[in-house]
Amino acid sequence: MYADLHLHSHYSDGTFTPEEIVSRAKQQGLGAIALTDHDTVEGCAAVAAECAKVGIEFVVGTELTSEHNDHELHILAYFVDPTNERLLREIAKFQIVRQERIRDMVARINALGVPLKAEDVFALANCKSPGRPHVARTLVRNGQCRTLDEAFERFLKKGRPAWVPKSKMSALEAIELIHQAGGLAVMAHPGLNRTDESIPDLVAAGLDGIECFHTKHPPGTAQHYLGMANKYSLLVTGGSDCHGMSKGKPLIGTVRLTQDYFNKLKAAAAVRQSAPVK
Ligand code: AMP
Ligand code: ZN
Ligand code: FE
Ligand code: FE
Repeated sequence: MYADLHLHSHYSDGTFTPEEIVSRAKQQGLGAIALTDHDTVEGCAAVAAECAKVGIEFVVGTELTSEHNDHELHILAYFVDPTNERLLREIAKFQIVRQERIRDMVARINALGVPLKAEDVFALANCKSPGRPHVARTLVRNGQCRTLDEAFERFLKKGRPAWVPKSKMSALEAIELIHQAGGLAVMAHPGLNRTDESIPDLVAAGLDGIECFHTKHPPGTAQHYLGMANKYSLLVTGGSDCHGMSKGKPLIGTVRLTQDYFNKLKAAAAVRQSAPVK
């Protein structure tokens, strides 16, 4: 078992630095990793540099928050050019959306009588792509909630009083954006979003792969999506979705893709890059 292709760093809502990710990947004996921070490729250069030092193969990635038919779904981008101007321009828009959403959520929390400052959330997040976990961590650090789960349950979960909907990129546009940046578009953790009915539309838009192996996919779920991959001729990916120490034990290396699946992914990326989709 070879690759963990779903990892978050402190460039989004993970807690690990690039150095920590790569030293743990090495300890775990991983041969390849991808960094898939939410709506940013900012950490990729640093993780690539660390990987090069220790002989781990690195794949540039990001996880785009998107929607299709009013369902949120996450599209993983692999092997994109991290300097692609259109990609950077589009994700920058969604970083601004994330920052504005933090202000809205904080205002709602304030209206509930809990004094929290947006600037404190931004200082703790210290990244361009902040999210709800940063609000939750600030509440815990301030002693206003005991645990992250309590922060989500009281305030931040969908339907709770400080939850704010997020405007998202269309999943079909996300696929096109990834292709024009030379990358492969993969449906993330389909078992979490329960949006199987979206798969045919995504496939018609050029979806390249599906994340069959994921921390929150029990064996039966993985098997179900392996069947979908077979049915629609999709590449198979997998990863732990490690967010660092935010939930206690780090997940890096606990979900792995075989070298065979990884090699198929690389071969498809090489084809994409020799004949980019315009
Ligand atoms: P956002 O991108 O701002 O909507 O935040 C989504 C992130 O919140 C995801 O990475 C989830 O892992 C995390 N999340 C969702 N629910 C919870 C929860 N109950 N406890 C901790 N983290 C959560
Ligand atoms: Zn996350
Ligand atoms: Fe996700
Ligand atoms: Fe993720």
